[in-house]
Amino acid sequence: MPDRARTPRRGLMLVISSPSGAGKTSLSRRLIAEHQGQIELSVSCTTRAPRPGELDGREYHFVSTDEFEEMIRGQAFLEYATVHENRYGTPRDAVMAMLELGRDVLFDVDWQGAFTISAGAPGDVVRVFILPPTMADLRSRLLARAQDDPKVIERRLSRAEGEIEHWTEYDYVLVNDDFDCAYEELRRIYLAERSRRERNAWLAAFVRGLLAEGS
Ligand code: 5GP
Repeated sequence: MPDRARTPRRGLMLVISSPSGAGKTSLSRRLIAEHQGQIELSVSCTTRAPRPGELDGREYHFVSTDEFEEMIRGQAFLEYATVHENRYGTPRDAVMAMLELGRDVLFDVDWQGAFTISAGAPGDVVRVFILPPTMADLRSRLLARAQDDPKVIERRLSRAEGEIEHWTEYDYVLVNDDFDCAYEELRRIYLAERSRRERNAWLAAFVRGLLAEGS
């Protein structure tokens, strides 16, 4: 059956967290690229400076601290938090618009964001945590990325343990020792969660039709 026939459906909120450098961004990008029209990224606002190659509006909306505070006052965020001394927030309206269209939304947020988003809509949220295979691997991935200065990298490594301690607050936990295997696991989780009965409101009418056919 074509996907458009399977509406109305309730969009799910896929929250993915990991320490920086564990591969969360690459896994998320691939999931979105391979499921266009089904799942979209929630683009957060941040007060941190753009890294080389990052585009305003694509990776983040880069805003000043004043603009960020103005958004807090205007209740524009679904959640916001301070991570690595910078502020990050999930814009509420964009997320709601995507969900209303029946699209799924992927959130690349830390454990604080995962907690708040999940508390606000427990039945709609699926939480996935990505672990690195070793801490040495995490360090070398951060160094290879080399987009941050060494002091920032050391700070991120020391915070990684704090992030990992929250792993039990997630529904699924993946170890990213092989990108393709981790991606396959993530894809299967996403597709299975999409198929849950309560997310597929169209089923009620479909089953009524099936039964009517037989009578
Ligand atoms: P980075 O600066 O490396 O892009 O992100 C640093 C951390 O902030 C990552 O763990 C990322 O998931 C998290 N983050 C990004 N956007 C948000 C957001 O809107 N809310 C929260 N709570 N965390 C975020």
